[in-house]
Amino acid sequence: MGKLITLILLVLLGVYLYRRMIRKRDAADTREAPAAEDMVRCKTCGVNLPRSEAILSGGRFYCCDEHRRADS
Ligand SMILES: [Zn+2]
Repeated sequence: MGKLITLILLVLLGVYLYRRMIRKRDAADTREAPAAEDMVRCKTCGVNLPRSEAILSGGRFYCCDEHRRADS
């Protein structure tokens, strides 16, 4: 009887550890997502930069406010 309880506890522990590992892997995937961000090109100087850092104006991207003003 004692052996059976030990076996059940080991299985439950295995399932718990397995689920925790899956969750950790999913969390790591979402953290890596921003690294695969789209790159856009500054219309004035042609430098490539992440979309979140670019300045969007009139459907065009710029690396800085100076280049946005220089183009308009
Ligand atoms: Zn630029």
